[in-house]
Amino acid sequence: MGIAADDIDRVRAATDLVAVASEHVALRRSGTRWVGLCPFHTERTPSFSVNGELGFWYCFGCQRKGDAITFVRETQQLDFVAAVEWLARRAGIELCWDNSREATQHRRRSRLVETMARAVAWYHERLLTAPDAAAARGYLRSRGYDGEVVRRFQLGWAPEGWDQLCRALSLSPGVAADTGLGFVNARNRLQDSFRGRLLFPIFDARGDPVALGGRVLPGGEGPKYKNSTASALYDKGEVLYGLNWAKGAIVDAGQVVVCEGYTDVIGLVGAGVPEAVATCGTALSERHVALLRRFAPRIVLAFDADEAGQGAAERVYGWERRYEVDVAVAALPGGTDPAELARTDPERLRRAVADAVPFLSFRLERLLATAPLASVEARARTAQAAARLIGEHPNQIVREDYASQVAVRLGVRPEHLLAGQGGDRPRRTLARPAASRSRRAETTSLLALGLAVHQPAAVAHLLHEVLFVKPVERAAYRALASAATLHDAVAEAEPEVAELLLRLAVDEVADPHAEAVVGRLVDEAACRVLADLEVDAQAIGQPFDEAQRIGWLKLQVENLRDDTTRGPAVEQVLEFLVERDGRQR
Ligand code: ZN
Repeated sequence: MGIAADDIDRVRAATDLVAVASEHVALRRSGTRWVGLCPFHTERTPSFSVNGELGFWYCFGCQRKGDAITFVRETQQLDFVAAVEWLARRAGIELCWDNSREATQHRRRSRLVETMARAVAWYHERLLTAPDAAAARGYLRSRGYDGEVVRRFQLGWAPEGWDQLCRALSLSPGVAADTGLGFVNARNRLQDSFRGRLLFPIFDARGDPVALGGRVLPGGEGPKYKNSTASALYDKGEVLYGLNWAKGAIVDAGQVVVCEGYTDVIGLVGAGVPEAVATCGTALSERHVALLRRFAPRIVLAFDADEAGQGAAERVYGWERRYEVDVAVAALPGGTDPAELARTDPERLRRAVADAVPFLSFRLERLLATAPLASVEARARTAQAAARLIGEHPNQIVREDYASQVAVRLGVRPEHLLAGQGGDRPRRTLARPAASRSRRAETTSLLALGLAVHQPAAVAHLLHEVLFVKPVERAAYRALASAATLHDAVAEAEPEVAELLLRLAVDEVADPHAEAVVGRLVDEAACRVLADLEVDAQAIGQPFDEAQRIGWLKLQVENLRDDTTRGPAVEQVLEFLVERDGRQR
C-alpha cells in the first residue's frame, strides 16, 4: 500500500523546487543556485540554498536539508504520502496507488462533490422560490443581477435557522465537516455553516463545486463576506473562482483577468470581459499563477497589486521569470473595484482591462501622477523614488528603457534612475551568503566531489574512491558512484555523508575546469604515495624497481601539472593508484 516508486520519481522530476520553496522564501539567484532567508530558523543573512536543477535544498545555518518532498513535509506539516500527493496535484500528475487506496480516495471525493452539488442546487432553489429569500432577490435586482445572472452563476440563498440544509440533505456530521457545509456546535448539534447569506458557489477548474462564498445582505449580521474554510475539497491556494467557466475565454483572449471577489468576476463578465477569475479572499499565489499559465501567457491584475506591499514586486517579477508570463495591471479609477465599475461605467472597466500596462509601468505612472515636480529638490526626490522602483526589475534592458522614459519626463539624466547612481542605491545589496563564504576554504577533494555531484558525466570516468582520503569524502564518492541518482545516493547514505552531498548539491558548481580539478586531485594523491614510497625506500634500502617506480611517478606528477600532458597522466596515475590500493588490501 502506497504510492508507486515510479510515481514518486515522476513527481520529483516534474517539481520545480525553486517554485515550491519560493512560496515560503524570497529566493534570489546566486550563480547556479538560489539563496534566501531560511524558513526554518531566524536569520538576517541568507543561508538557505536551493539547487533547482538537482532538486535539493540545504541551510548552511541550521543544517536542515532535503528535497522538494522534505520541504513540503516540513513547511506544511504533512506526512510523506500527503507531501507527495500535494506535489503531484501541483504538477498535474495522477498518482497510481498500488492497491485500493486510490479507488477509496476517489470514491470519497466523488461523494463529497455530489453532496456539494446537492447543496448548491438546494440553495439555488431557495433563492429562486422561497418566500424568505424575497429580500435577497430584491437586493440582487438592486445590484443589477437579473435571473440570467442568478442562474448562470448558480447563486443561492442560505436561510436563517440553525440546520435547514443539514436536515434537508440528511448530512452526517462527517460529511458536513468534510464539505464545510456544517459543523457540530457547542450544544453538540449539527449546524449549518451558512445562514442568512447570499451564496456564490465556487467550482474548481474541472467544474466540481468545492466551496461556497457567502455575503450578508445589507444590515445583516456578521462579516460581510464569509467563505468556506479549507476542507477535503477546497484548497484556497489552488482554486480560482470562475475558472471553470472562463477557461475557453482565457485561451481565446490570450490573457486572464484576476480580481479579488466573486462579484468582481460577475461584473467583469457582465461588462464583456469573460476571461475573469477571482482569488476569493486570499492573495494571488504562485500556485494560482502556475495554474493560470496553463491557459494564457498574460495575467492582468484587476486589483491593487501594489497594496500587497513590500514583497509584491519581487513576487511578480519572480513569476514572470519562472513562468514566462507577463503580469500587467489594469488601472481602475481610484478606490473602485471591478464590481462597482461594472455597475457605474462598464465601458470604463473594459477600457481599463484593454489598456492594462506592465507592472513596473503601472507603479511608475502612479508615482509620477502624484509626485510634486515643481522644484529641483522635489524632482530629485521623485527621481530617487522612481529609481527604487526601476531598480527592483531584474532585467537590465527593461530597467534602462524605463529609466530613459522617466528621465525625459523628470528632466534628469537616465543614469540617475539606474542602480548605483546618485545617492540612492535601489538594488538590494545582499550580504554574501554563508555558503559562499565557506567556499574559500574548499579543498581539491571537495571541489572534485562537487563535480561528481554537478557534472557526473564529465568526471565519472576520471574519479575513483582512492583519490579521496577523508573517510566522509570517500564514503560520499562511493555513495555517488554506486547509486543511480543523486536522490538514491542521499537516501542510502549515512547522515553525515548525506549532509555533505546535499551541501555540495546546493553549492555553486565548483569549477568549470573539471579536468584541472581532477588533475590536481590525482596530483595530490600521487604526491602522498610518493612520500610513502620514499619513506619505504629509505627504510629498506632502495631496490631497483622501487626507485624506478618513484622516478616514474615523479615524472607523471610533472605531466599532471602541464596542460598538454595532463589527460593521459591522469589515466595512468589513476590506474597505478587503484592497482596499488588493491594490492594493499
Ligand atoms: Zn536554517
